Amino acid sequence: MPELPEVETTCKGIQPYVENQTIIQFIIRDGRLRWPVELHLIQTLQSTLVQSVTRRGKYILLTTKKGVLMLHLGMSGNLRILPSNTPATKHDHIDIILSNQQVLRLNDPRRFGSVLWHDAEQGAIETHRLLCKLAPEPLTNEFNADYLYQKIQHKNVAIKKLIMNNQIIVGAGNIYASEALFNAKIHPLTVGKALNKQACQQLVVHIQNVLRESIKQGGTTLKDFLKPDGKPGYFVQKLNVYGRNEQPCTQCNTVIEKVIISQRASFFCPKCQPLKEG
Ligand SMILES: [Zn+2]
Repeated sequence: MPELPEVETTCKGIQPYVENQTIIQFIIRDGRLRWPVELHLIQTLQSTLVQSVTRRGKYILLTTKKGVLMLHLGMSGNLRILPSNTPATKHDHIDIILSNQQVLRLNDPRRFGSVLWHDAEQGAIETHRLLCKLAPEPLTNEFNADYLYQKIQHKNVAIKKLIMNNQIIVGAGNIYASEALFNAKIHPLTVGKALNKQACQQLVVHIQNVLRESIKQGGTTLKDFLKPDGKPGYFVQKLNVYGRNEQPCTQCNTVIEKVIISQRASFFCPKCQPLKEG
């Protein structure tokens, strides 16, 4: 599933080709995505200027004078920029043909992605039902130790589960959460209330580091957006614990263990990440 770093890279990758271009044609080849794509968009978006391309959480926002087109990649979606006469292939569900003779194309084999419309008359995009409850962006100053401490200090819930809750932090997907907890030397089952402000500070720093590192690596794949077969996947970084159960810890050689927390596999080193009682 594309995570925040992949979405950020996609956003930055398409931005120079989409921003300040006029939509010539909006094509729905198969609108049966997570939610049906609204048919009126074919008319609504025609001859409309895309003023900006931004990201909030895992949504890519194409802002126009009439409203905002919200794109989500779901489980398997990807967006590419291609010459507008490039023939569509299987799973190319949506095309946005632009005045620079490029097409922004959504391909999504599993169709869990979404293309939603927020009309300007409905107010600011931040008030949209899918965005209004989202936590602060992890790479902004709003996400800091005081904030995290205040959110978790009374919680009798595993920290791994807390940091994967997008009302607490957006963007700490399973891999990133596991790696950040390892780097911060915090056991994934430690309950929120057992962490002091200093531990929160460590966790904030390491969540930001794993995300930044991943975005940095993603930058090297930006050229893939211009290839017909370019499908940006996960940005594989050096993983210390994720997917490494029964292998030796990179720091101390202790065998990495696996535990399931809220149906998600979590990996940790029992020596580097001792369990603190709550
Ligand atoms: Zn270790």
